[in-house]
Amino acid sequence: MPETTIITGATVVTVDPDRSVIRDGAVVIEGARIIAVGKAADVEPRYPGAERIDAKGQLLLPGFINLHVHCAINVTRGIGDDMGGAPIYRRDIPQGVMMSAEDTRIMSKLGATQAMALGSTTIVENYIHSRANVEALAEVGIRAVVSERVHDADLFSVRYGSYTYDEERGRRLLAENEELIREWHGYDGGRITCQVGPHGPDTASPDLLRRARALADETGVGIFMHVGQSAGELAQVRQMTGRSSVQHLADLGVLGQDLIAGHCAFLDDRDAELLAESRTTVCHLPTVNAKSGWMAPIPELRHLGARVGLGTDNMVHDMIETMRFAVCINRANEGTAENIKAMDALEMATIVGARALGREADLGSIEEGKLADLLLIDLDRINLAPVLDPIASLVYAGQAADIHSVMIGGKFTVRDRRVLTLDPAEVVSEAQDRAERLWADVAGWQPIDGATGTRC
Ligand SMILES: [Zn+2]
Repeated sequence: MPETTIITGATVVTVDPDRSVIRDGAVVIEGARIIAVGKAADVEPRYPGAERIDAKGQLLLPGFINLHVHCAINVTRGIGDDMGGAPIYRRDIPQGVMMSAEDTRIMSKLGATQAMALGSTTIVENYIHSRANVEALAEVGIRAVVSERVHDADLFSVRYGSYTYDEERGRRLLAENEELIREWHGYDGGRITCQVGPHGPDTASPDLLRRARALADETGVGIFMHVGQSAGELAQVRQMTGRSSVQHLADLGVLGQDLIAGHCAFLDDRDAELLAESRTTVCHLPTVNAKSGWMAPIPELRHLGARVGLGTDNMVHDMIETMRFAVCINRANEGTAENIKAMDALEMATIVGARALGREADLGSIEEGKLADLLLIDLDRINLAPVLDPIASLVYAGQAADIHSVMIGGKFTVRDRRVLTLDPAEVVSEAQDRAERLWADVAGWQPIDGATGTRC
């Protein structure tokens, strides 16, 4: 018999179809799944033999689903942030082909541990060296949907508006992705699943995009992609095809409810309609878009009924911060506070993510039969008090440090703020050493010591 656990006394924010919040609630977990949800007074007596976890004074939430992550790119953090634009097109930042499989494994372990400790129970991850990458994610214990970064364009010349395509490169990377799917899709009871990861409509030629879509269809997995990420992408696609990025993807049959399209910042009205009509998931990346100096037209997309989820990309994988950004930046963008509320952000970070992955039956809310991917958040924190509406308090005043415990598939991976699956101090120190070495090799990096050139 699988073990039965009851988490009791918490305020349970279910994100169920009625968006129920249960005060003095209880959630019963058997094995990996939730078997009962309700008032503690009703549920507790039915499970007298269950292991009891007292969660009084805590919020119990579904774990966050982060739809766009590159775990290993935290190597660019700090220096890359102030350079502007995406790091992947630069030779003076250690990333991509400048990293070995082992570099990727080490940096990815840091990114995934961070994502999990900060409340993401599922991440949608895409990077080079996907088979080394997935090993790191499997070890960390996070639920992950993984793909290879597949492109045939030379990424370093893209920055100068010059595109050269190498069919052999595209073939090799797509084959890597196919191997990844064959070896890892469904690993550990489905904790690790896979996608196909064509990088973008400009960096993957039309032929490669067609083959990526065919691979996704053949293997029954979804697609991870960057779409409408820059003005340069649009110019290249327009030059190749006479179409916008989104219209080009529609022509090729790439759009659809199994596609998670990251960014979607550069769209026209027809693009927005096509994304909404095709049920493509728009993955909104508010922190990284704001850092780059632009924003996706999220109010317009939401108005059209498009499916909009959330991700962190190469920023800190803090989904509470990301929810807050999503609300604040879109209000600033739209000039009104009327249209996006705290609950909208919470839905984007949970149930919409589950829908994007075709996993609504398993993930994204606290309901009977779903997987027990849960967060416990302390309510007695100085930044949260007074808590009158727990959802608004979480989105407007919450911090990742409020997260007390993380459960994935019925097992605690973080408990009482301690990561249980590996030693986080070791992960951090190994990644620090590796990042310093990579930056020194690629850009002659030395630690800051003395004047930084700031004038006032
Ligand atoms: Zn990205």
